[in-house]
Amino acid sequence: MTDALVIFKPDGAHRLPVRAALWRWLGSQREWKLHGLTWYRPPVELIERHYDFLRDRPFFPWLVEFMTALPVLVGRISASPAALERMRHELGETRIGEARPGSLRERYGIGGGVNILHLSDSPESGATEVGLWSRYVPLDAASVQLEASSDRPDRTYQLRSLAGQYAAGVHTELAAQEMRRLLREETDLGEDDFETLVRVILGAFR
Ligand code: ADP
Ligand code: MG
Repeated sequence: MTDALVIFKPDGAHRLPVRAALWRWLGSQREWKLHGLTWYRPPVELIERHYDFLRDRPFFPWLVEFMTALPVLVGRISASPAALERMRHELGETRIGEARPGSLRERYGIGGGVNILHLSDSPESGATEVGLWSRYVPLDAASVQLEASSDRPDRTYQLRSLAGQYAAGVHTELAAQEMRRLLREETDLGEDDFETLVRVILGAFR
């Protein structure tokens, strides 16, 4: 058995229909076990370490801001190496525009690196990431139980279309306004946290 770290990123944690869908998948524990899924807001230092290999990429400052802006759901998976590989396959490719049709990221990601869920990509990275995060947050407590369905509407594909316009500088203001309206329908965040969610999502497409 191997360990892997799983994180519902801010979009996966706070867009309620997406959180429910991720929970239906992850919580099924089909060929893996889930341990210690818990709410935690990671400090900048932890995210900079976690994504150290991306430090020189132009999107790194955005990525750190995205991952530290709001509480996320983090936990540990144990699975066989082959099962972990199948989980990564079901998750889909990193960038939403390239994510395999039918994968979780293709189905629920808004665009670019706003891709709902982190999952360690190998037994090696799993061991490193679980070791790192365990120094900040206990990953062995009882897992939170999440809702398996949401009465909020899922606006993924409209949001993706608008993000494309926003990124291309086409109807920029209107696209941002409409994205805010749709995100508001999907989440129950309080006003300040909602503004933060909108800011970090739009920030990916600037
Ligand atoms: P994955 O999450 O699929 O394992 P990586 O470990 O390569 O992907 O990258 C970590 C995270 O950094 C991605 O999930 C995504 O949020 C962001 N990211 C990676 N590459 C890009 C990119 N080219 N553009 C925007 N964001 C990216
Ligand atoms: Mg990775």
